[in-house]
Amino acid sequence: MRWILTRREARVNNPLISLQNLKTYFFSEAGSVRAVDGLDFSIDKGETVGLIGESGCGKTTTALSIMRLLPPNGQILGGKIIFDDQDLLELDAAAMRTIRGSKIAMVFQEAATALNPVLTIGEQIAEVITLHQGATHREALREAAHLLEMVGLPDPVRRLTEYPHQFSGGMRQRTMLAMAMAGQPSLLIADEPVAALDGPLQAQVLELIDNLKRELDMTVLLITHNLALAAAICERIVVMYAGEMAETAPVATIFTAAAHPYTQCLLRATPQLKADRLEVIGGSVPDLVSPPPGCRFHPRCPWALEICSQQSPPTVEVSGGHLVNCWLMKQ
Ligand code: SF4
Repeated sequence: MRWILTRREARVNNPLISLQNLKTYFFSEAGSVRAVDGLDFSIDKGETVGLIGESGCGKTTTALSIMRLLPPNGQILGGKIIFDDQDLLELDAAAMRTIRGSKIAMVFQEAATALNPVLTIGEQIAEVITLHQGATHREALREAAHLLEMVGLPDPVRRLTEYPHQFSGGMRQRTMLAMAMAGQPSLLIADEPVAALDGPLQAQVLELIDNLKRELDMTVLLITHNLALAAAICERIVVMYAGEMAETAPVATIFTAAAHPYTQCLLRATPQLKADRLEVIGGSVPDLVSPPPGCRFHPRCPWALEICSQQSPPTVEVSGGHLVNCWLMKQ
């Protein structure tokens, strides 16, 4: 049976974080860029969720909104981000600094630029431990060595004295994960954590994230444009298109019964799933200063109906936990 849900009614079991009608815009001379425009999804405690979509669809803006680390021209204009029963958007700057790192940590794509080139690896990790755990410098260095060991870096005590330029790309990404773990967060946001690594290293770092999640009882939001990578460790997928959610479902459902035309296009463009020929998604990502009316995917959608260019699609639950924003679901 299918039934229509309003956005507020989309149910989850035991959410650690819940984004409700989140709107984040950027302001430029060209106009207001509606980077995230009414986004709703939740992540249950202990769950790993993959946030998927093409570049520019709002994935990283979503993460930066959760962290409240938007650049000066970005602003959260509406909605709620409920984390551990409190709305992060109502916290003052000091309270948000406490949450950042100690309860929610973020790992960025470019570990090379995220690390300070003039400080040793040990100093950088120890600083985070001292800040969030109140440890002495000596205790913090001991804990830093333990964290480097945990993320699989050999000879961790010696590594503490080295600088980022002495590390390979994979080692730097592991170091970023160690720093993220230093605050013992309950939510880890990993933004394209393996995009700068080659194939075998990608699998190793994803496996590491999965292992850390289990060992430390964390919840993970993995941001990636690659569905196949997300499938490696995620339990559920949220597909974003042009600042909005297109579809969410358990990962197996996405791969066997994706219902949104955009998700289906993404699957056909995923290398691991089709060895003979990859399809390119026709058209281009819309300008978010003046996005298309109705369904934002309608100019590229092979199955667009007349109503698609006139009215925003409803959210339809097609099976347990499988929500689709598409007019076709009402046919
Ligand atoms: Fe395509 Fe219409 Fe569904 Fe949008 S609402 S994905 S245009 S069928």
